[in-house]
Amino acid sequence: MSFCALGLCDELVKAVSEQGYTEPSPIQVEAIPAVLKKRDVMAVAQTGTGKTAGFSLPMVQLLSAGISATPNSVRALVITPTRELAAQVAKSIENYSRHMNLTSTAVFGGVRIEPQIAQLQNGIDVLVATPGRLVDLYNQNAINFEKLEILVLDEADRMLDLGFIDDIRHIKSLLPTERQTLMFSATFTNEIKSLASGMLNSPLLIEVTAANSTVDKIKQKIYSVEKSRKSELLIHLIKKNEWQQVLVFSRTKQGADNLVSELEATGITAASIHANRTQHARTHALEGFKNEDITVLVATDIASRGIDVNQLPYVVNFDLPYVPEDYVHRIGRTGRAGTLGLAVSLFSADESKQLQAIERLIERKFELETVSGFKPNKKEIAKAISKAAAKDKNAKSKVMSNAKSGGKSKRNKADDDEYGNFEADPLPRGKSKGRKKSKR
Ligand code: AMP
Repeated sequence: MSFCALGLCDELVKAVSEQGYTEPSPIQVEAIPAVLKKRDVMAVAQTGTGKTAGFSLPMVQLLSAGISATPNSVRALVITPTRELAAQVAKSIENYSRHMNLTSTAVFGGVRIEPQIAQLQNGIDVLVATPGRLVDLYNQNAINFEKLEILVLDEADRMLDLGFIDDIRHIKSLLPTERQTLMFSATFTNEIKSLASGMLNSPLLIEVTAANSTVDKIKQKIYSVEKSRKSELLIHLIKKNEWQQVLVFSRTKQGADNLVSELEATGITAASIHANRTQHARTHALEGFKNEDITVLVATDIASRGIDVNQLPYVVNFDLPYVPEDYVHRIGRTGRAGTLGLAVSLFSADESKQLQAIERLIERKFELETVSGFKPNKKEIAKAISKAAAKDKNAKSKVMSNAKSGGKSKRNKADDDEYGNFEADPLPRGKSKGRKKSKR
């Protein structure tokens, strides 16, 4: 199958061949003709499947046939959960539409709003935005949606995880009802189904991999190790196997920074990317990682969204995530678009619950392996298990008392560390009431 056979115009066929794509990926084969026919699409697809091109290519082709944007208007809106993903998607759209006469940009929080307001003055064909900043720009009359033709919700499941549902509903209420809507999500939960049914009109459902399954091309290994020796094991694996471009996931921001210091102390170049770092520092770290100036990028789950490095070879789960879907997202960073990848998880005995939840989600039982010299000591395992049980009991009683006091507590303290200060987008002024501030 060729891109041309999918109905794409010469300018786009040229652009994709310049990107080095020789044939469309499965999601592109299904999505491109449907979008060109102006159908709504609900696609269950992970990052790495080529979903961005799947919606961007037909979207820009449809736009190129219409009338250019008028002042302050937007013709196609792509909403993403994080800044990194917004920047990444905007870059892809710019690449794909390079032989066309279309304008596109990304807007997100954490940077000054004034240049974005100026950029929107003449209108824009494609705007890629994170939800909070988009609402802020709308409230400041920098943008209107009267001429909106296409809406894309990218990584919709992530948007819900991050508490953006109110923003999404609000944005939906501002848009023309007659529009084409495309929704992408790595997982297909009941929440996503209900969001889709409220936003899409008789959509074509595309599932490129079974829902909630991990990408087949990724080799997954779980190494059992004592918690206190995880850094040591990671350093050993990187040095012994001469790994380059290793993306390491840490559950907490503090943990990410500590790990960077430990790696650097042994001569491994590393940087962290998490919500407490400035946008500039995050971009700088990501660039260094992409250029292979640094060997290891340590990321928290939220900050990692949108990290797109071609053929990323290694992903390491330093901690197992509390939310099992995060495991799917994390390892989806490797084995991208048909390349082989290795995902290694460092498992300590206190993480049994997380491991079981992951196994249930992806319907696979892992075999625990050990690395010579790092086999966990039985006493330490027993200690870790009883500590985890005590922590669990404590967490449960906290949830109970929270429930009694009417509060909601989905994540525990360690997660709060990551989610607590997340500033994906500053809250629009006067809009803070009722929002899930703890997940921003
Ligand atoms: P995505 O799933 O959109 O994040 O894309 C993952 C990666 O696959 C990106 O680096 C794309 O540049 C790349 N990609 C997208 N489509 C193709 C294709 N048809 N052939 C090869 N690489 C592709």
